[in-house]
Amino acid sequence: MLLPNILITGTPGVGKTTLGKELASRSGLKYINVGDVAREGALYNGYDEEYDCPILDEEKVVDELENQVTEGGVIVDYHGCDFFPERWFHAVFVLRTDNSILYKRLETRGYNEKKLGDNIECEIFQVLYEEAMLSYKEDVVHQLPSNTPEELEENINQILGWIEQWVKDHNP
Ligand code: ADP
Ligand code: MG
Repeated sequence: MLLPNILITGTPGVGKTTLGKELASRSGLKYINVGDVAREGALYNGYDEEYDCPILDEEKVVDELENQVTEGGVIVDYHGCDFFPERWFHAVFVLRTDNSILYKRLETRGYNEKKLGDNIECEIFQVLYEEAMLSYKEDVVHQLPSNTPEELEENINQILGWIEQWVKDHNP
């Protein structure tokens, strides 16, 4: 059976992991957290002193995931989207969160002021949405509000519906 691949992206803190894991458990698709994959395989090619974190080796990440994604049926979670092959994803969901709500979530995470400010700015300037629109066909990219538990539930149901339709359309 053919299964779709979904990318969930957005600024850190918007709720990608929460949505991705819940979707995977309800749909049976496989959840892949790119940050975890990079950590497990040490797929880095440098160190960012300013942010005090390793820099992702995007090429190695793509190589690592290629076979799994090509099989189909994965939900990929990452706060970036311009380095994946365009052909990988049948739908790209960009989660969006209001500034004040996102601020509180990132504060709770213990982000320092610089990291907090940069991430809020990233959300204000719709960096991930623009990146998605430049990297994928317009009709593949969908923005979803991610502020409340009710919105989370709506997003889950909407994407489950999308998956069901995709599976029907691609498995005669
Ligand atoms: P990301 O993976 O995008 O960094 P997380 O899924 O870790 O974000 O979510 C960040 C925080 O926000 C978590 O504490 C999570 O419980 C909360 N959260 C995520 N989505 C929602 C939502 N729709 N409504 C309320 N809280 C949410
Ligand atoms: Mg996450």
